[in-house]
Amino acid sequence: MIIDAHTHIYPESIAKKAVGTVIANTKDQLKAYTDGTFDSLIASMDVAEVDLSIVLTVATNPEQGIGILQWIKKMIPLSHRLIYFGSVHPHDRNFRDVIREMKKCGLQGIKFHPAYQNFPVDSKETYPVYEEALRNDLVIYFHSGFDMSLPDCDYASVERFANFLEDFKGSKIILAHGGGYREWDKVIDLLGDKKCYFDIAFVLESMKLCKHARELFRQNEDYFIFGSDSPWREQKQYVELIRNSDTLSQEQKEKLFCRNIKKLITIKDVD
Ligand SMILES: [Zn+2]
Repeated sequence: MIIDAHTHIYPESIAKKAVGTVIANTKDQLKAYTDGTFDSLIASMDVAEVDLSIVLTVATNPEQGIGILQWIKKMIPLSHRLIYFGSVHPHDRNFRDVIREMKKCGLQGIKFHPAYQNFPVDSKETYPVYEEALRNDLVIYFHSGFDMSLPDCDYASVERFANFLEDFKGSKIILAHGGGYREWDKVIDLLGDKKCYFDIAFVLESMKLCKHARELFRQNEDYFIFGSDSPWREQKQYVELIRNSDTLSQEQKEKLFCRNIKKLITIKDVD
């Protein structure tokens, strides 16, 4: 089974604009491999032989969390192959209600993007939001490291995650982009023993070439999960990079593709 833990889609009516805005914010450094819609992601999964995808959302202002949740509620019945994580803005005064509502809808995780949401990940003011999410047994998924759209922001830096994880060690935490977008030497020093999960979106291509990345993987192979960041990477290319790898064992491939993420979320039978 292949589970892609990191994908994005947008409501049909705004998908084109949303994809265009992200590309423009990165000064055209990104390319989109789907058009950002539900249909296009499902088609990409079929081509790549991905069974399930987790769709991550981001509330970029305090009012958005509940609206995103309404959209997710409408989307859930459309396919059992997409699993949605909600989002709440840390400055949303109703964050507790939004998080409880997520839990009531059966969501299993919540995504934060410190740069887009304008908060340092280790800020103590945000702790009640994390605590509420964990109390509701949600997986917390973070963007981590450098982001092309906001290159000067350090809110999701490896150092800040190290501070945060001192206080939340052992919780169900996933850090996207290998915990720090190619800063493997720092990640291994500061996060290597924190028992957090790392997705490989945007960094899979370069991992083989970096000895710190290989070392981090060797020490944490039970904590690495497959995520493409579709539409910004091609699912099929990512699947093939792992499938055709001659350095990964069969067992390591299986851990990456599904076994590790299954420790964090419950998968209903897929047929
Ligand atoms: Zn992403």
